[in-house]
Amino acid sequence: MVTIKNRVVIPLEGAARPPEFITFSGFAEEHIAIVFPALAPDATPLVRVHSECLTGDVFGSQLCDCGPQLHEAIDVFSREGGILLYLRQEGRGIGLYAKLSAYALQKQGLDTFEANRHLNLPEDARSFEPAAQMLKALGITRIRLLTNNPDKTGQLEQYGIEVESTIPTGVYLNPNNRNYLEAKVRVKKHTIPL
Ligand SMILES: [Zn+2]
Repeated sequence: MVTIKNRVVIPLEGAARPPEFITFSGFAEEHIAIVFPALAPDATPLVRVHSECLTGDVFGSQLCDCGPQLHEAIDVFSREGGILLYLRQEGRGIGLYAKLSAYALQKQGLDTFEANRHLNLPEDARSFEPAAQMLKALGITRIRLLTNNPDKTGQLEQYGIEVESTIPTGVYLNPNNRNYLEAKVRVKKHTIPL
């Protein structure tokens, strides 16, 4: 059973209204929810499920689109309200070192999923159950989801969260991440108009 452990308001650079960072009891990893106050409290909450990507989120790596997607969510939520569920699932669950090894293989022409398989790792080790558990701990069972990933919608519904609608994220293509985005569309059926 996942329950709220603590809540603390942290002002963020560029965010008009500061969000609350929420910690939980009952997880092995330190997943957090970042709750931006809603302008319309009665509306179905807008939610983004984001898996940690140290290289993209912190350093602005051009090999993926995680950084721009994270900042888009913060930007939208700081204006309209919303809940960012930040999952500590680096490298789609394989960890930072393995992700960097997979990047080295991608330089030799493998796509992101083939590279994981070459390392004898799952191509996507993520479960989105912790996201559903955090929502339930927050008393939320019905959401609008900001995503292009049908697996997130499917898993949240499987874990008891009703996804009323999905809203696509922006497309953040650059010369270095085209292969990555194309692989997400080809293998995982992400709805990214490239
Ligand atoms: Zn990334």
